[in-house]
Amino acid sequence: AKRRGGSSYHWYSSDLDAGMQSQVELRTQLQEAIQQQQFELFYQPIVDGAGHPVGVEALVRWKHPQRGYISPGDFIPLAEATGQIIAIADWVFEQACKDTPTLLAAGIESVSINFSPLQFYRDDLLENIEHALQRYGVKPQALVVEITENVFMRDSQHMIQMLHRLRKLGLSIAIDDFGTGFASLSYLNQLPVDSLKIDQSFIRGIEQARRNSAIARGVLTIAQELGVKTIAEGVETEAERDYLIQHNCSQMQGFLFCRPQPLAATLQWLQEQQIK
Ligand code: C2E
Ligand code: CA
Ligand code: CA
Ligand code: CA
Repeated sequence: AKRRGGSSYHWYSSDLDAGMQSQVELRTQLQEAIQQQQFELFYQPIVDGAGHPVGVEALVRWKHPQRGYISPGDFIPLAEATGQIIAIADWVFEQACKDTPTLLAAGIESVSINFSPLQFYRDDLLENIEHALQRYGVKPQALVVEITENVFMRDSQHMIQMLHRLRKLGLSIAIDDFGTGFASLSYLNQLPVDSLKIDQSFIRGIEQARRNSAIARGVLTIAQELGVKTIAEGVETEAERDYLIQHNCSQMQGFLFCRPQPLAATLQWLQEQQIK
């Protein structure tokens, strides 16, 4: 079992049979979680080169009644496989829209929301988005849709068309985990994209200019050529931050600045930054 972050853990047994058993159990529990809305959105600030917050990313947590906060890495993949992601995504989008007015009032410009590939195969996606925006009085310009490169694996033409429609609505598009996925570079010039999020695996120790940081440097160069914003993910050290600023990375996100936190703590953090 793999640990990720402080507030989450796996509870599967490493034994295969027990593991399969717990997948079934997990699926059942997830169904209950959907019915009882056992979810919470955490928010992580995104800052500019001067360290000023410009946005936040919404990151879902499962508030399990016995096990506490469960990280999305521990249930999103299963939810995607079972289709339960659709109901979770509806909850996430609704909640993010609900929280957006207070977040914007705390001095930021946008709220980023992670989308799963399956969501783009719903006929009612755009309609649902428009209705949620109206319900909470949110301007589409305030929202960023984050997608990973693997959404282009299945039907890239369909995806490109959907992204154009989302953008026409006024939302921005960010490619998440850029560089880790499927042949994104070959699509990049066709994609209606506002920003590239450089995966944290390429940021780690970037100032030492080793092999993995060549990817990050390449992405920064390409993004500049294309006039696309860059957001470095998982920035943990001042050395990484300084290097990124020197290399014209537009925005950063990471534990160095702030961890993902519940709404109230995020609002407090944002307000503290305004005073600074
Ligand atoms: P992601 O979109 O790449 O989100 C960034 C992840 O990196 C988050 O993990 C965040 O807590 C973590 N992180 C941020 N800064 C640092 C840092 O400085 N160091 C390190 N080591 N990690 C950092 P989290 O919250 O566990 O989310 C994991 C993934 O789950 C997300 O990766 C995203 O793909 C997915 N996810 C989260 N919320 C949603 C959602 O509402 N819908 C969907 N479809 N996926 C979601
Ligand atoms: Ca993301
Ligand atoms: Ca990411
Ligand atoms: Ca990721």
